[in-house]
Amino acid sequence: MPFTALGLISPLAQAAAGRGYAVPTPIQREAIPAVLAGRDVLASAQTGSGKTAAYALPLLQGLLDRRHEKTRHPRALVLVPTRELAQQVGETLHDFAKSLPDALRIAVMFGGVSINPQLMGLRGGADLVVATPGRLLDVVVHNALRLGSVATLVLDEADRLLDLGFAEELGRILEQLPKQRQTLLFSATFPPAIAALATSALRDPLRIDV
Ligand code: AMP
Repeated sequence: MPFTALGLISPLAQAAAGRGYAVPTPIQREAIPAVLAGRDVLASAQTGSGKTAAYALPLLQGLLDRRHEKTRHPRALVLVPTRELAQQVGETLHDFAKSLPDALRIAVMFGGVSINPQLMGLRGGADLVVATPGRLLDVVVHNALRLGSVATLVLDEADRLLDLGFAEELGRILEQLPKQRQTLLFSATFPPAIAALATSALRDPLRIDV
């Protein structure tokens, strides 16, 4: 099955092929059409399952579809537990986005480094932000970013977000997001805290177990 059969536009399908993805992985087959349709998704996903592209490709397509909604504030937010994952997801998104006819502005931010370059990087606005929770809140406190335009939220490696102690930050971020939004949650494990987070943050999600 080709990527275009999942509803992806050909530049994105070609970008996937360019990264050496011949056919979609099982999580991509299930998640991509659902995300394109605007559904919430609750996916059990290990690293190596292809989960990043499962949300990155339809997320970029959605931003492209809604690019006339002019705002300098992000319309999509990807929360990740670590700097390494932020950089890796940012690289994948940039690589896919290069194929698109319109430029999307992708900002990547994480703690442990000076905040100033990250604040400067937001001056022209951002369509999509990839961030660790603590640094995202710091940037919000600096008034460099508002979360009221976020239409899609991705919680990547949600179990590690909680394991690393980000529950409080996550709660503060969720409070600032629109209630009407799409939410995608990816987690390798489903302890009770993740089930509770899913109940509070997602609406009628498609459950994907691969
Ligand atoms: P992830 O689970 O997102 O960390 O992806 C694991 C690895 O699989 C990464 O190196 C991806 O580049 C690769 N990958 C993702 N989707 C596919 C695909 N459809 N075919 C082959 N490799 C893929």
